[in-house]
Amino acid sequence: MTITILGAGAMGSLFGGLLAESGEAVTLLDINDAHLRAIRDHGLRLETDAGDRRIRSLTACRPEQATAQPDLLVVFTKTLHTASALAGVAGLIGPRTLVLTLQNGLGNVETVSRFAPIERILIGTTTWPADVAGPGHVRSHGSGGVRIMAADQCEHAGVAKVAETLSRAGLRCTLDRTVWTAVWEKVAFNAALNSLCAVTGCSVDQLGAVPEGMALAGAVIDEVVAVARAEGIAADADHCRQTVAHAIAHHIGHKPSMLQDVLAGRPTEIGAINGAVAEKGRRRGVAVPHTEALLGLVRLIEARAKAAGNSST
Ligand code: NAD
Repeated sequence: MTITILGAGAMGSLFGGLLAESGEAVTLLDINDAHLRAIRDHGLRLETDAGDRRIRSLTACRPEQATAQPDLLVVFTKTLHTASALAGVAGLIGPRTLVLTLQNGLGNVETVSRFAPIERILIGTTTWPADVAGPGHVRSHGSGGVRIMAADQCEHAGVAKVAETLSRAGLRCTLDRTVWTAVWEKVAFNAALNSLCAVTGCSVDQLGAVPEGMALAGAVIDEVVAVARAEGIAADADHCRQTVAHAIAHHIGHKPSMLQDVLAGRPTEIGAINGAVAEKGRRRGVAVPHTEALLGLVRLIEARAKAAGNSST
């Protein structure tokens, strides 16, 4: 398979690196020149439980330098950059190109469908974790999986082939017609933990330090699940609570990406997570006061960082 990864940060480099290692023809596209240069000069350094190695059997370049239309385009930018990134590579989406999004949040299919027909879009979720350790260097420890389906919910041979290809690379991908439930349950998890950590500066485990931390997370979960159910999605609040409780007990010292973005003064994915839930809640008449409060607080933090950036330039 020819595979192009759009957004080769933590997740894009992990997926691209493993796919290249398993023999696929992979091109990484990114706008981070230092990261691209390091990969071109020294190979992609990938640290996983399988070892610390450098992968040289892939191409890394800026989006405007890519010309070949791949069999599969995997979108792994942050959600707030999806539309501009896809606009930059619209010419790469050919008549046979499948476009896969495993990004967090809601609205990903809607954004991708502005650039590709719905019958060639694949949607899914992944539980693989990854962090950028430096230019050209990505770390991912622990295990995970991927669940995908066709966005139009029809059976396509191409979807099965993508799942096989990801699994051959060790990414443990299954075809799953209940992907929307998994997407919403992950949104509930992220809406609760990511925004609480972003606002408080707590790592995930520190949210367990006082009973109010778990109570707040539980309140957000209940709201997200109520909106999901109003949308006809069978999300399960107990399952989400268990996942959150497990993360608080075991993800010692982990700073979710939203907290990392806040600490670095970058905009966050709050719009696609709490923001999208709040918008759908308003439309369905479901009150989501905790989710909205956290949305407003993270927006204020983003605005403060933007003002500080503007005043320093
Ligand atoms: P990241 O910030 O590490 O990587 C995103 C990359 O996109 C960056 O390298 C950035 O330079 C690049 N980019 C931005 N604009 C671009 C453009 N116009 N063209 C090409 N590249 C562009 O983010 P990540 O942690 O890899 O997350 C990607 C997505 O996966 C997010 O939606 C995230 O929520 C989701 N996710 C992340 C994890 C994780 O553990 N990191 C796990 C599951 C899902």
